[in-house]
Amino acid sequence: MEFLKEWDKEYVWHPFTQMAEYVKHEPIIIEKGEGCWLYDTNGNRYLDAVSSIWCNVHGHNVKELNDVLIEQIGKVAHSTLLGLSNVPAVKLAKKLVEITPEGLNHVFYADNGSTAMEVALKMAYQYWQLKGKKKRTKFIKLGDAYHGDTIGSVSIGGIDLFHSMYKELMFETFKVPSPFPYRFNGTQEECKNHSLSVMEGILKEKGDEIAAVIMEPIVQGAAGIIVHPEGFLKGVRELCDRYGVLLICDEVATGFGKTGKMFACELEEVVPDIMAVSKGLTAGYMPLSATITTDKVYQAFWGGDYGSDKTFFHGHTFTGNPLACAVALENIDLFEKKNWPEFLIEKIDFLNSRLKELTELPHVGDIRNKGFMVGIELVKNKKTKEPFSWKDDVGRRISKRIVEKGVFTRPLGPVLVMMPPLAITEEEIGFMIDKYKEAIIEEFDI
Ligand SMILES: *Cc1c(COP(=O)(O)O)cnc(C)c1O
Repeated sequence: MEFLKEWDKEYVWHPFTQMAEYVKHEPIIIEKGEGCWLYDTNGNRYLDAVSSIWCNVHGHNVKELNDVLIEQIGKVAHSTLLGLSNVPAVKLAKKLVEITPEGLNHVFYADNGSTAMEVALKMAYQYWQLKGKKKRTKFIKLGDAYHGDTIGSVSIGGIDLFHSMYKELMFETFKVPSPFPYRFNGTQEECKNHSLSVMEGILKEKGDEIAAVIMEPIVQGAAGIIVHPEGFLKGVRELCDRYGVLLICDEVATGFGKTGKMFACELEEVVPDIMAVSKGLTAGYMPLSATITTDKVYQAFWGGDYGSDKTFFHGHTFTGNPLACAVALENIDLFEKKNWPEFLIEKIDFLNSRLKELTELPHVGDIRNKGFMVGIELVKNKKTKEPFSWKDDVGRRISKRIVEKGVFTRPLGPVLVMMPPLAITEEEIGFMIDKYKEAIIEEFDI
């Protein structure tokens, strides 16, 4: 199998990776998965602590999910939604309407989170054009936002390291500081109100130019698992209503149980005008996304000929792929069969109680989590909260130690991440926490 490692270094250009550095280390090549574990070509196993970048739900190699894929592939692997429909895509659309917040009634498919957000952007933009409000062309986003890597989603992103290189290609947006309690000088309530008042200021001044506010509800994942103060999402919904702009919620990371609710919006009983889901949609099995909207938005596109500007000119070759939709349906069924949400509640309590053991460790500045989304921020100085920069590389060094101990993780700068599959057992949660703890202690040599 040594040839695979050579070929990997020679031919594969890895995402978000400095290849000159990547090739210095022996690559880990995954060959199979079982439950919450991944196995490499050397026979080592790793607990999948970040659910294969936040998408795995019920574990790897799950019989029920495998079976529906095999069954579907015996029928048809792919056929188009352009002019045709297919059985799993129809059934899944109805199911998604049933499980998403009341009022989201129409499902537009794409194949990943970034394109789901592109769809959301174009949908919101065209909605106002069709409504005759031609000036409503701009978007409000949050600081440190992440919505994917296509140019539209980069434009609505706010992470300088990922996004500033492409600034000449981006369209203009209005940025509201992310309500980030750990880095805010004041209470949770003040932190929330500060961001809301900046948002209201923009809406007051430029409201008639704004098409939509875009946000990751409750938890901003790639920003470093920032958990918003309670009431922020609800506050944004109220501002959107007051100033007549649309609210787009990006549930690509938060959807499908990760926060302890099926969708994060449910935590504050908010219904967005447009909601995007992807990562957990297929239980992490296949690339698929959906952008789901209300009758109000859908109706604006109703009528006219094909050539008229009421048609939504967007679609991807693999939109509504039958294999992906079939496995997504079974994913949702499995939630029900496993007694959702009860099966998760005790595990979240257990995770929370074990996480407390890490707070006393040196350089652990902040531990924040909502459900199974956990960020552990390492700082130079716990008292002053002086941060490590991305260049200090502390998150990657510790994560490397964790991987060597048999737990796969990938940090966000100085923030260690845990976001295990919902199928993880308490024993595995214990193992995971132990390894993070050991790695932090070893890194700081205490
Ligand atoms: C991962 C992610 C995306 C992008 O999804 P891709 O499938 O990687 O394109 C968008 N929004 C959020 C919140 C994400 O976490």
